[in-house]
Amino acid sequence: MGNAYSDEVLHAARLSPFKPARGLTGSEVVALHAALVEVLGAAVQRVAGVQAAQLRDDKRSAMRVHGRTGSSCPTCGDTIREVAFATKSLQYCPTCQTGGRPLADRRLSRLLK
Ligand SMILES: [Zn+2]
Repeated sequence: MGNAYSDEVLHAARLSPFKPARGLTGSEVVALHAALVEVLGAAVQRVAGVQAAQLRDDKRSAMRVHGRTGSSCPTCGDTIREVAFATKSLQYCPTCQTGGRPLADRRLSRLLK
């Protein structure tokens, strides 16, 4: 899955981006699946009938956390944060996803030391 939609799905499921998949509880797996269906289903509905040139803008404007670092979370109003993971950066809402705790960067360069 693309970086953008994985940020969106994790926010909808209220899961931390650093949560290991095998550590998920049964109810978290259910929430994750429901979020996948909701976020990707909504994305497919939005793009139906839209010109390719408009897709990028449409996709960006529909994002709740992805690419919105510093903006307010549409769910709770907390500030969207960004954290580095390996070579990517992820956006997430601390209140919705990590119990209010900001995450520490996990850059690849730091992991390799
Ligand atoms: Zn939030």
